[in-house]
Amino acid sequence: MTPDVRPLVAGNWKMNGTRQSLGEIKAMAEGVLGPLSEQVDTLLCPPMTLLYVATALCTDSPLMVGAQDCHQKTCGAHTGDISAEMIADCFGTHVIVGHSERRTDHGETDHIVRDKACAAHEAELTAIICIGETENQRDAYETLDVLRRQLLGSVPEGATAENTVIAYEPVWAIGSGVTPTSEDVAVAHAFMRSELIRRFGEEGKMMRLLYGGSVKPDNAAKLMSIDNVDGALIGGASLKAEDFLAIYGVYEGLIAETL
Ligand code: PEP
Repeated sequence: MTPDVRPLVAGNWKMNGTRQSLGEIKAMAEGVLGPLSEQVDTLLCPPMTLLYVATALCTDSPLMVGAQDCHQKTCGAHTGDISAEMIADCFGTHVIVGHSERRTDHGETDHIVRDKACAAHEAELTAIICIGETENQRDAYETLDVLRRQLLGSVPEGATAENTVIAYEPVWAIGSGVTPTSEDVAVAHAFMRSELIRRFGEEGKMMRLLYGGSVKPDNAAKLMSIDNVDGALIGGASLKAEDFLAIYGVYEGLIAETL
């Protein structure tokens, strides 16, 4: 955790979920009603097909709803793509950009990710910019170099603590059930914090740094208690309301410990 930075617990459903899953969204929306929501933000990024109905389900809930990607242009001949404006039009508040699955499956470069983040900002969305090293890069001790390069390349000049969240997601930890050690997460997050402060000053101090990669109810407290870890980006464990809410719930204890 970072003093004075409000944690964010965010779910990424990836290409999962149909109308049959709306019960889970409803359960999440109801499950986050309560005093903890005054101190911790929650967000769910379902597939685009469920975005509008999800925002409707969350109108009376602090659970925010976002998308998993946007195009870098505002409109035009880009068959199959979704603009940031369209997400905002469905009452989405956030968009994930640069997830490693998009960098790999769709050849997205840092430059494209930065343009997508800019498009998100223009539509008044918060961009969740994902960065992280591959297994080979980790084994070659290149993690911090990769993080520096991706932060520089993917985070636009106009980034503020309000419109930008950084998610550190080691590629080898995503969906694998394996997480880095607490020490490794602490080193990566401290490094990202110092890079952001160097570039953005006070804003960099307050920018939220999420950890993502195999976060589960049983490891969340350990991961979320690490310095400069200001929440989680959760894939698999966000598909079930029970697991998502259990991860959110670890903040009850963590906040109590800081008092
Ligand atoms: C993700 O895809 O952003 C992610 C962190 O997935 P998982 O939690 O399943 O590792």
